[in-house]
Amino acid sequence: MSVAAEAKLIIDGQSVPAVDGRTSTLIEPATGSQLAVVAAAGVEDVERAVSAAARAFPGWRRVSSRERAQLLFRLAALLRQNRDELARLESRNAGKPIRDARDEVDLAANCFEYYGGAVDKVGGQTIPVAAPGVSLTFREPIGVCAIIVPWNFPIAITSWKSAPALAMGNTVVLKPAEQTPLTALRLAELMLEAGIPSGVFNVITGAGSVVGEALVKHPLVRKVSFTGSTDVGVRVMKLAADTIKRVTLELGGKSANIIFADSDIDKAVSSAVSSSLGNAGQDCCARSRVLVEQSVYDQFLEKLRRGFSSVVMGDPLREETEMGPMITAEHRERVLGYIRSGIDEGAELVCGGSAPDDPSLSGGTYIAPTIFAGAKRGMRIVREEIFGPVVAVMPFIGEQAAIEMANDSEYGLSGSIWTRDIGRALRVARAVETGVLSINTGSSVHLGAPFGGFKKSGIGRELGLAALDHYSEMKSVYIDVSG
Ligand code: NAD
Repeated sequence: MSVAAEAKLIIDGQSVPAVDGRTSTLIEPATGSQLAVVAAAGVEDVERAVSAAARAFPGWRRVSSRERAQLLFRLAALLRQNRDELARLESRNAGKPIRDARDEVDLAANCFEYYGGAVDKVGGQTIPVAAPGVSLTFREPIGVCAIIVPWNFPIAITSWKSAPALAMGNTVVLKPAEQTPLTALRLAELMLEAGIPSGVFNVITGAGSVVGEALVKHPLVRKVSFTGSTDVGVRVMKLAADTIKRVTLELGGKSANIIFADSDIDKAVSSAVSSSLGNAGQDCCARSRVLVEQSVYDQFLEKLRRGFSSVVMGDPLREETEMGPMITAEHRERVLGYIRSGIDEGAELVCGGSAPDDPSLSGGTYIAPTIFAGAKRGMRIVREEIFGPVVAVMPFIGEQAAIEMANDSEYGLSGSIWTRDIGRALRVARAVETGVLSINTGSSVHLGAPFGGFKKSGIGRELGLAALDHYSEMKSVYIDVSG
């Protein structure tokens, strides 16, 4: 697909416009200019896509697990062959640095390969029971899965959900975020090229309030896997309740980065920069609350200020760029609103706080990396997910205080702990109420390890073999052998 072309829906293996011919325009975040025109699907398009997925289901579930694995391997190879094109598309559409976009495409390829490799190795159990016979378990596919994803890691999150769904024999209707549909549409083309049958993977682009809701309510959709904001997650869960759909929710976060005085401070600083500014802070796992032991607080804050001030912002397509713009002008306004609230509520602005001075960036939706010190627990910048390049740094005294501060959040997605004391690292890791934690590093996301949130950060797990449980139904069969 060439950028600036008109992008259509992919339903039943065909590239088609929306039934009513409606389209929407994508704006490139780094320049503010038009990037592409995309079909804006409506409820009738949802109907067509779900029907196609439902028709394809009986055939796809009968494809042997080994053959499904081979198709997913072929898809992974095609993603690698088309890596540069996909990465450029993602970089321009989402405004993310090209190096990160390449990593995301690699992650997607690895993910399809991981689940392709897993699917013919997971079986059921034989269970001795108190009766003259034996119980067996089987994993059955669920049926049509609606996959709804956000704009921050479009191809990666799409793969996290689609790979286990397809591997287990489900069919899919994918709804990408309005802002970032381009790599999803290209992925659907590559699926067909890999030999995955028509109708198994369909993509409809359009508004969440229309297409997303119609998918979640549709009686033929058996499972909804949603990644996005907690507010929309609540709505999805309520809408899914009427038809008792299986639901996986990956939602917002406000993760804590806990730095003890005995840690390698320079390493912790450098990681605090990348783990809060990666993807310009538009990351559900962003460590946006930095908790620092009092005795090293001043030196840490000064080093962090220097780290934030030296981040290279710029054109996402340039190799040296480390941080791109906010996804849209509207989102930039939202983030700037949080910055104003921090100032109004009395936090101390250490650096950033506005668009960068560099005039060459004035066409894009950039915000300079921003640090607040002196933040207090009740402030909005401490409690709410900002989803931008903004951190609040706060001192603590003692292990217990660090745990209490980390847990003082309605979210529970991610976090990091920095200390050379392994006992303390594990004590704190067990006590912090989040689903994913890293010790002495800034990220814990690995394909083989389960990923997901506690509290209002979500329900269910993605990645690892754990995800297979969320894309299959467990069936128990008892065989009487009493004769
Ligand atoms: P969003 O909730 O606004 O949108 C997410 C998706 O839901 C989009 O495709 C959107 O069109 C769709 N949608 C919107 N309203 C809908 C409705 N009523 N019914 C069904 N679908 C609807 O989120 P966003 O702004 O695209 O992404 C940012 C959010 O995503 C942040 O809160 C972030 O933390 C979260 N996120 C979470 C994870 C995770 O794994 N936990 C990963 C990435 C992003």
